[in-house]
Amino acid sequence: MELPRNPTRSVRIGSITIGEGRPIAVQSMTATHTQDVDATVEQANALHAAGAGLVRIAVDSQKDAVALAEIRRRTTANLSVDLQENYRLAAVVAPHVDEVRYNPGHLYHHEREKPWQEKVKFLAGVAGEHDCAMRVGVNCGSVDPAQLEKYGEHDSIGPMLASAWEHCELLDQLGFTRYNVSLKDSDPQKVIEVNKRFAAQRPDVPLHLGVTEAGLPPDGIIKTRIAFEQLISRGIGDTIRVSLTVPNARKPEEIAAGRQILADIAAGRVRSFVDFGLDTLNIISCPSCSRVENEAFIELAQQVKEMTAYAKDYAITIAVMGCRVNGPGETDDADLGLWCGPNHVNLKKGSLELGSFAYHEILPRLRAELDQLIAQREPVKT
Ligand code: SF4
Repeated sequence: MELPRNPTRSVRIGSITIGEGRPIAVQSMTATHTQDVDATVEQANALHAAGAGLVRIAVDSQKDAVALAEIRRRTTANLSVDLQENYRLAAVVAPHVDEVRYNPGHLYHHEREKPWQEKVKFLAGVAGEHDCAMRVGVNCGSVDPAQLEKYGEHDSIGPMLASAWEHCELLDQLGFTRYNVSLKDSDPQKVIEVNKRFAAQRPDVPLHLGVTEAGLPPDGIIKTRIAFEQLISRGIGDTIRVSLTVPNARKPEEIAAGRQILADIAAGRVRSFVDFGLDTLNIISCPSCSRVENEAFIELAQQVKEMTAYAKDYAITIAVMGCRVNGPGETDDADLGLWCGPNHVNLKKGSLELGSFAYHEILPRLRAELDQLIAQREPVKT
């Protein structure tokens, strides 16, 4: 079946090119500690061997940047660097990677007095000098605070779009057009809406699609499939990632899942539409990355899923995140949110922080909070 494709620009990222009708590239991200060079090289190579067109690696410090240079020497995978708050690290890592990914919502933490436009100009200059593409990665859990202020608290999509559009406009003005954009949320319906609206206004900009914190397989694959079917069948999307909470050795499953979804859509094997409008228990968990603070996170995510199964008929969302960097923000929309620290797990009920608990204490405490929520609500199914 011939699928329509939006008339996106071509963007070369290392040895692959996305956009302009090219095959949709499948990518992933390493979850090992970046400074553990042997483990990260092994995982990058495993993802590459599974068919990853691009492998993203998080870099948060100078030590990570040094490790990345060594990783580059030991893998032929196309590499993307995932920058968080310290945008200036781009200058150190750009010589070793094929793409620089920055999050507009994270450009505010360092050098607060400097306008974000100057920071983007710096990033574009570095990327251009070192033959790198860029990704503007907008994430529901860390949207530019200046955009959030302009929209009501019930509009999560407006600020994401405004942020993406203004960054595209600036990059275009700077003459840097070798970029792609991602707009991610943990709710597949929001992923569909935000990407449709972005593409309607900027059909020329290649899009990287993903449902963030999709969770454990098979649910995480199903949520992602729902979003991808709706978007790719309309010609939207040039590269994808299926984010799954799986142990490191199983990370290549993200690539296999992505390829399977693409093959099914191309063959017309689309599933009936499933509404994830939170009318049943919804567990979201981050796919893990090098920022995970305790290896027990993957097991904890699994245990949360098993322990909470008894609440399956209640419209309750529980979020489980691997670190303190993104965990607090990305649990904002959940009824109960957990994020991992090195020795403790933090727990939140709505916006109320309930404290931090040892790993062996967290499940009983979570259950007590869940029981309270259930007592206040009617089941949606009988
Ligand atoms: S929540 Fe933290 S550990 Fe999980 S993927 Fe995001 S940055 Fe990585």
